Amino acid sequence: MVTAITGSGFGDEGKGKITDFLAEKADVAVRFQGGANAGHTIRNDFGRFVLRLLPSGVFHQHVENMIASGVAFDADIFFSELEMLKERGVKAPKILVSTRAQLLLPIHKLQDKWEEERLEKHKFGSTLSGIWPFYSDKFARKNIPISALYSEELRDIADRFCKDKNIYCKAFYGIANAVSYQDLLQYLYDVKTRLSPYLCDCPYYMNKAIKDGKNILLEGQLGALRDIENGIYPYVTSSSPLAGFGSVSAGIPPYEIKSVVSVVKAYTTSVGEGPLVGEVFGSAADELRRRGGDQGEFGANTGRPRRMAWFDCVSTRYGCMLQGATEIALTNLDVLGYLDRIPVCVSYCTNGKITKNFPQTDLLKASRPVYEYLNGWNCDISGCSQYEELPEAAKNYIRFIEDQIGVPVSIISVGPKRKQTIFRNRRVENKL
Ligand code: GDP
Repeated sequence: MVTAITGSGFGDEGKGKITDFLAEKADVAVRFQGGANAGHTIRNDFGRFVLRLLPSGVFHQHVENMIASGVAFDADIFFSELEMLKERGVKAPKILVSTRAQLLLPIHKLQDKWEEERLEKHKFGSTLSGIWPFYSDKFARKNIPISALYSEELRDIADRFCKDKNIYCKAFYGIANAVSYQDLLQYLYDVKTRLSPYLCDCPYYMNKAIKDGKNILLEGQLGALRDIENGIYPYVTSSSPLAGFGSVSAGIPPYEIKSVVSVVKAYTTSVGEGPLVGEVFGSAADELRRRGGDQGEFGANTGRPRRMAWFDCVSTRYGCMLQGATEIALTNLDVLGYLDRIPVCVSYCTNGKITKNFPQTDLLKASRPVYEYLNGWNCDISGCSQYEELPEAAKNYIRFIEDQIGVPVSIISVGPKRKQTIFRNRRVENKL
């Protein structure tokens, strides 16, 4: 059975924690999109980790961890994360890398930096991981696939890549010879040697795994509101974090995804540019930010302070709809334990009109939140291990969200650690 674990917000919802937790009963964990531009934070028996590229199943020895074809494969980060796991005492995980994935090269990262400098005040707040230059080259059909490393035409492919890139960088950034052919070739040969043990023809492997009845997790990066097609364009990522893209990237039929666990945070955070309806500022934001996550709400990868807002039913309902959520994993519920009253945004007032639908980007800027206030529970729930142990007000908060979104909350996370996770009314067909 295939289960997708994806975010319904702007990212940072806690997908890493939920994937690590569910991977205990999985056979295969697949990273299906994005690259090393965001970090999935995991706290388990081995310590605290922020994984940027490796699937969050790597802490389980029995799990095969696949990097699927749609991922921006940064070989430098890949090898450094493997090294980091080794140094920190984690046994070498089983890793497979799709030969159909393409290489995110050092020049993509430089290009990302030069573009932000060129844009000056219009910059996107990029993490400078080379993601948009990679995806832009992918759709221009200029990237170098991993399979090309083993092709007799590699020299020609590298030569064409260099020539195109150098024309582009000279025209856009005034930088001559941005990529040296010899350096690129050397880099590619080096990656070729080191990557050999991990190669896998992803679609064939995945379809066989389904036939063999394996339990498969598809792990998305970022969240639905950053989707390139349906998100807050242009403040989006350059790929699709939707569960549907998991099937494309892994090369499996869409109807094989039987369960979509939408990871939803008990309040809202956003990193980077773009409209955030109901953004909270000042001391209220500082307090929520300080208490949030496992070390405050700061970018797992970048350290940037996350922008804060209360739970937003409008954006979450939209995000869950895009994901096709069959269930919600509600994370960070413990964080709200300091509040007497909790504001929840139930609709937007957009140009004087009340709406429950998530507007397009230009109208988001003209939208104001309409709040309802729920009672807080005013206590620490991080030690609760059963739904029944939660205070009535916390249960009420969960039920309210469930009613508003129209998707059952089946997993409740009350802390960053594996064991701080509560199952509730899970569907019998769920194998994980
Ligand atoms: P991801 O990219 O979706 O995996 O999310 P991030 O790792 O960027 O951010 C999620 C943050 O919330 C991390 O600091 C996690 O350790 C933390 N976290 C996850 N679940 C919980 C929870 O239930 N309670 C608390 N306090 N922190 C959590």
